[in-house]
Amino acid sequence: MMTIHIMNCFTCNARPPSTLRTGLVCALVETDQGLVLIDTGPGLEDYAHPTGMLRLFKIVTDIPLNPQEAAVNQVRRLGFRPEDVRHIILTHMHFDHCGGLPDFPWAKVHLHRREFEAFTGPWRRWTDMAYVRRHIAHGPDWALYDDAGERWYDFDAIRLPFEPEMWLVPLHGHTRGLCGVAAKLEQGWFFNASDAGAVSNNVTPAWLIRLVLGPHDGRLRQFLAAHPEVHLTNAHMEPAYFEHPVL
Ligand SMILES: [Zn+2]
Repeated sequence: MMTIHIMNCFTCNARPPSTLRTGLVCALVETDQGLVLIDTGPGLEDYAHPTGMLRLFKIVTDIPLNPQEAAVNQVRRLGFRPEDVRHIILTHMHFDHCGGLPDFPWAKVHLHRREFEAFTGPWRRWTDMAYVRRHIAHGPDWALYDDAGERWYDFDAIRLPFEPEMWLVPLHGHTRGLCGVAAKLEQGWFFNASDAGAVSNNVTPAWLIRLVLGPHDGRLRQFLAAHPEVHLTNAHMEPAYFEHPVL
């Protein structure tokens, strides 16, 4: 049976008058291939020496920047050793999703090839400013994936080499290679659609969601309504979600 632990690895609250409060969904999955971490949140070095992007976030939003939120510390609190995290799957490479890579330098890092190329190639659009080069300075062991012509439900998808079943689900737009990640549970599925949607947010207007997160939010909302057996989450969820993530 698959066990999955949901962790908030980056609290980021809007400043007043907005009341928007969010944490970042990172998932630690126990598989036959060892512990698999889906997104890392910021890493210890980000807390010790925040990058320009993080310092900018600290000005425009209200972030506690508490290193207790670092995935490596939460993995320890769950009773595991950081070395037990053998694999990391990245939805995309923005600083708030992959800054913890250097805290798991032995882990194999799985992601869509287009996202890796967007990060390492010339930056072409404003959302590329959220890539931080030093997050891969330690030279991770990459596993890069191309579209495979397979399907998870009616989404184009790429099967990942884990048991129980896990899938990369390309939802490009917010970044050029962003993917959701689906993991088979005993009953139903966990599906982190990351920054491709904001299905729990009924405040932000659809045009703004489309501008920042790309074209998938409407489809994800329809999918969620049609498939109650799928535990669909975005990356940035309200704090209450982390108290009782229903799985
Ligand atoms: Zn992002």
